[in-house]
Amino acid sequence: MKDCTSMTKPNEITYSSKYTTLSREEVIDKVSSVLSARRLKHVLGVEEAALELAERYDADKEKVSLAALLHDYAKEQTDEEMRDMIISENMDLDLLQYGNNIWHGPVGAILVKKQFGIEDSHILDAIRHHTVGAPDMDIVEQIIYVADFIEPGRSFSGVETARELAKVDLKETIAFSTIHTIEHLLDKNVKIYPKAIETYNAWAAEK
Ligand code: GDP
Ligand code: FE
Ligand code: FE
Repeated sequence: MKDCTSMTKPNEITYSSKYTTLSREEVIDKVSSVLSARRLKHVLGVEEAALELAERYDADKEKVSLAALLHDYAKEQTDEEMRDMIISENMDLDLLQYGNNIWHGPVGAILVKKQFGIEDSHILDAIRHHTVGAPDMDIVEQIIYVADFIEPGRSFSGVETARELAKVDLKETIAFSTIHTIEHLLDKNVKIYPKAIETYNAWAAEK
């Protein structure tokens, strides 16, 4: 673990053009054209939390910043737009039994690839898997999954524990977040997407 006194602030990130020709400000402008002000604030909070984690756990900050800013890019698409995309892009048709909560990750990854020209698989997978996780998440995916849970705007019971845990053990935080989410879904008696169970089995069960 690194000393955290020299932590990079989000607005100190300058993109290299390795992943997109746009600057960070241009990416934020484009994101703000499709998201409400409230959700843009969430996205910037996720970037802030994700960059702290990237510093602590030694991940590529440019990939992490882009994945964070773009993780909810599809969140305000209509159900009809998302359904059309699931079909036209030959995505898993089982998705059609779910809704926006499950769709916006995988649909977002495709939109971001098309609209931003981003090809990097780590960035796209982090967007794709940010809601339900995956059994084999790399460091960028792990960071976005956790940052979405602990960003400064979140206020549910358990978030403080997750924030403290994230300072010492990223994998433990994934286990904690996954258990919290599954318990919440069981409590609400809603459908659990099978990949969420796969994430639970890989990262949380019997740990
Ligand atoms: P947000 O996009 O920043 O609001 O956060 P997420 O993308 O992480 O989650 C969106 C919503 O999906 C949250 O309300 C989660 O509780 C919910 N969610 C996560 N996993 C599942 C699942 O397996 N099934 C269902 N029905 N909802 C889920
Ligand atoms: Fe999301
Ligand atoms: Fe989010």
